[in-house]
Amino acid sequence: MTLKDNAHQLVREHLKMDRDGKAHKVPALLEELRRAVTPGHAGSAGGGMTGPPIPINPNALDLLAEIEGEARRDHYEITSTGWQSTLEELLQAFVEMDLSAEWDAYLTHVSRDWIDKITALLWPSKPRRKLVGKTCPACGWATYGEERKVCLSLGCWDDEGNMRAIGTWDIECASCEASWAGEQVAYLLRALDTPGIKVVSEVAQVS
Ligand SMILES: [Zn+2]
Repeated sequence: MTLKDNAHQLVREHLKMDRDGKAHKVPALLEELRRAVTPGHAGSAGGGMTGPPIPINPNALDLLAEIEGEARRDHYEITSTGWQSTLEELLQAFVEMDLSAEWDAYLTHVSRDWIDKITALLWPSKPRRKLVGKTCPACGWATYGEERKVCLSLGCWDDEGNMRAIGTWDIECASCEASWAGEQVAYLLRALDTPGIKVVSEVAQVS
């Protein structure tokens, strides 16, 4: 990802690929972050927002301040002048500047960091679902270690906490590190007497 790509995700409405391989339009990440700071002010036209509103999160304000502070400091270091406009315009200005290779690499890195932090804050990932009482067919154990932790776990959430299509699920054994993906998951769930359809309904109840 280049600085331009990162700035685009932060500042512009953009296409995002979900795990089913479908692209859908999502708002700029900074816009989403601002909404989380003041959730009473829903976005204006063309939002494309689905799902429940994002709850008030004071951490969003801190993160926004952190990003804005860093961007303005960097701009000052590069140009020796203060930036007089919005954060969004500043990020686009960075893209159009004739940056040194060092600054370009640095800003690419920090902007990637901002994307990760905003994503983690707005859509915290859900933990893998433990398959309690199921024996790993690779190592033959259901639990491991002194704390008797559960061996098998199912990955079924996407980065935004929505359930992925069953064909994209994965199962891992935390003890022997065996893993299964794709169609194997459905076979394994059936072998474990935990058919996918049952897991889906259980998972839906948990979420
Ligand atoms: Zn195992």
